[in-house]
This record gives sequence, C-alpha cells and structure tokens, in this order.
Amino acid sequence: MKCIINAKLILEERIEEGKILCFDKYIVRIAEDINFSDSEDMEIIDAEGNYVSAGFIDLHIHGSGGADVMDATPEALETISNTLPQTGTTSFLATTMTMSEQAIRKALQNVQDHIDHVTGANILGVHLEGPFINASKHGAQDRDYVQAPNMSLIEDHMQVLKMITLAPEVKGTEFFVKLLTKEYPHIILSIGHSDASYEESQKSFSWGVSHATHLFNAMSPYHHRAPGIVGAVFDSDVTCDIIADLLHIHPSVLELTYRMKKEKLILITDAMRAGCMKSGSYDLGGRKVIVEGNSAALEDGTLAGSVLKLNVALKHMTTLTSMTRVEAVNAVTKIPAQKLGIKKGELKVGYDADIVIFDENFSIISTIIAGKAKYKRD
Ligand SMILES: [Zn+2]
Repeated sequence: MKCIINAKLILEERIEEGKILCFDKYIVRIAEDINFSDSEDMEIIDAEGNYVSAGFIDLHIHGSGGADVMDATPEALETISNTLPQTGTTSFLATTMTMSEQAIRKALQNVQDHIDHVTGANILGVHLEGPFINASKHGAQDRDYVQAPNMSLIEDHMQVLKMITLAPEVKGTEFFVKLLTKEYPHIILSIGHSDASYEESQKSFSWGVSHATHLFNAMSPYHHRAPGIVGAVFDSDVTCDIIADLLHIHPSVLELTYRMKKEKLILITDAMRAGCMKSGSYDLGGRKVIVEGNSAALEDGTLAGSVLKLNVALKHMTTLTSMTRVEAVNAVTKIPAQKLGIKKGELKVGYDADIVIFDENFSIISTIIAGKAKYKRD
C-alpha cells in the first residue's frame, strides 16, 4: 500500500489538509493518521504541501505526442497513453475524426482490440466526432466524408463507443438518437458541429441528447432573436464542454459559460497529435495543420483542434474566471466521470487510484494511474 502525506487533498466540495490518502490499485482509506499495523511495506509519498486530486479525464482528445487515434495502430494509442500523464490526464476517450468509412472502422477496431493494453493513461472508449454532423459546420472536419447517422458504420463497435457528437437537424438523427438512447444508454449523445436552432436543440434534448461538444465552436453563434444551440444549452440542464485554450473562446465567455452552467461544465482539450510536441506542420484527419505556440490551425486559419493540456485549461479557468480550484478540478474529474458512469474522478474509498499531485499553478509534479507512478517531474 502507498500513502500520500502532507497534501492538500481536493475532495468533493473542499480542500482538506492534514489527511492521509492511502491506496493500492484502488483508494483504500482517507485517514487522520497512518496506521502502520496495516502493512509492513508501506510506501510513503510526501506531497510537500502540494495539491492532490483525482486524475484528470479528457472526453475529447484526438492525439498527443505525435500520434493520432486515426493512425489506427496500437503504437499510436500507446504513444498518446504515455504522453498524457505529464498533463495530469489519467484517462480519456479516444476521439475519431470525419474521414472515410474504412478509416473510421479501422480506428474503432484498433481501440476495441487494444483498449486494455496501453500502459499509461487509460482509454475509456471512443468519442465518435463525426461523420454524423452538419457539413455546414464541419470546422476542421473533412466535409466530403460527412454522412447521415446510421448504424452500419458503428454496429460492430457499440460497446467501445462512449460518446457521439451529432447534429440533430440532420435528417435521420431523431430516429438514431431515440434508438441509441433506448438500446445503448451508455453512449453519451452530444450536440455539436451543428447548425440547430434553439427549438431544434431543445427538441433533441427530449430525444436523449444530453451534452454539447465544444460549446460555441462549430455551431451558430448566440443571437438574441435566435439563441441557437448555445441558448438552448444555457436554458437546460444538459452538460457541455469547452476548450479553454483562450483561442477557441474569449476569457469573458469562459466566465459567462461557467456562471450559466456551474457543475454542468466540463473542460476538454480537443488536442491533436501535436499536443505536448514542438511547433511545426502536422496532420489532422488527413488535413495539414500548422502548429505555432498554443495554436493549431488549417492553412486557411480555421482552428484545427488544439494543443491544449488539461492542467493548462485548469490554470486558465482559475485565473481568468471566478471558478474556484475545487470547481475547476471537478470539471475534469468528478463531472466527466459521473457522465460516463465510472468509479473514477473522485478521491473516494473504492474508486480507482488515479491520482495527480500538482502545485499552485497546476504544474504537474506526479501522476499515478491504478496505483502506479506514471509520471514524475524532474
Ligand atoms: Zn475534436
């Protein structure tokens, strides 16, 4: 067993000092004192007064460390899995792009075959981003491969699918959403890359759509006479996620979104293969992307995913909005975990021992996955 001492533990609604977090593969105890009779070979980890929280969960990430989910190889998944712990991320949804049917099937099969074989951050399943979107809001997705929702593309991979981004105004989506809500309730259906009106969005929530993908991006803007998806999300209790890289959304809109959605807000990266890499020219979904500093864009300037890290998103939200440290951490731990229905995302007895130690600025000191150290700052 291992015990972390001298920590500021981020628990559900508060920060606890002076308590000790003990774990093996799972969290075993949160105690006042170490009980040395527990185990002969107890390992003590001194957090040196830093913060300790559950590991971060990214619901929307295409790649990192030079690899992309659409590479559809076990090596690519292993690279992403082993790059993410340095950002505090301990599990993620491998996110696909709008590409050919053959490429999407290959990526789905690859995740299905290797989901349990990666040695870093856990793969929780697939987030299918496209091709069931609106071609007019394709963003950096290849519009030539957009198609109406259908089961034939995904029916062999229903268990590995955990989230689908779709556009409710597209013909056939109502039937598709109702079918999945009934038959595959483990799949989060999310409105995104969509031009739905306020009314269409609200209707889709009644069918079973329960989330919104990168709110504000790749959707019609909020207008006071046509509030669109953003208005519908603000006016309902669906969850939503945002890319807090300060490029996709202005800081004042981050604050607004936080105030409107509170504990319904999740932070994602939407990172592409250049995540945690140097500036340069990369590929995303078969298209050339120029990465410079913290921006990833197509040659025409369209933002193409991001190179955001979840710990940086936390820093942005806590320094530029009124979101507290605990609320921000919940937005990458407890809230996405509850959305997925998994026993992660909280420092609670019986939960997976996915743990992050970080300093005041969210710089990651150490990352532990299923009780094992996977990253340590030099
Ligand atoms: Zn994306």
